[in-house]
Amino acid sequence: MAEENDCIFCKIIKGEIPSAKVYEDEDVYAFLDLGQITKGHTLIVPKVHQKDIFHLDPEIAAKLFRRVPVIADAINKAFHPVGLNLLNNNGTLAGQSVFHYHVHLIPRYGKDDTINFGFQTHTDDYTNEQRAAIAQAISSHIH
Ligand code: AMP
Ligand code: ZN
Repeated sequence: MAEENDCIFCKIIKGEIPSAKVYEDEDVYAFLDLGQITKGHTLIVPKVHQKDIFHLDPEIAAKLFRRVPVIADAINKAFHPVGLNLLNNNGTLAGQSVFHYHVHLIPRYGKDDTINFGFQTHTDDYTNEQRAAIAQAISSHIH
């Protein structure tokens, strides 16, 4: 069975299961995340089933991301948050639980909105030479 037949977001796009729709056009569908980390927490997904960033066609990504500021602006106008996080999890270890590519828009209302991403920085653990080698290891694969 094709992956998309079993995909909850494909079913939402097709209207087979309900969602609180925020926006739809020929390329993307945006709807409220059931979890509502904060009020207005929205997901935007491509209409084509692509499971994560490693499988996302750059052309599909371009179509998706050109809508992101439009939806962010609408959330701003609706609820006047003081900030907004974009989040995209890829792979189970990184917190992905639905394997249809999606970007979270999470408006932020203040220090009480209970989000703690828990990232730690390691600025002092790397020399400039090590940073250059890491950057080179990545850039050598960009064609
Ligand atoms: P992630 O963990 O980044 O893969 O995000 C998946 C998100 O999908 C979670 O935040 C869930 O709350 C949300 N979610 C799962 N099922 C539904 C649904 N039926 N409608 C809306 N959001 C959903
Ligand atoms: Zn899907």
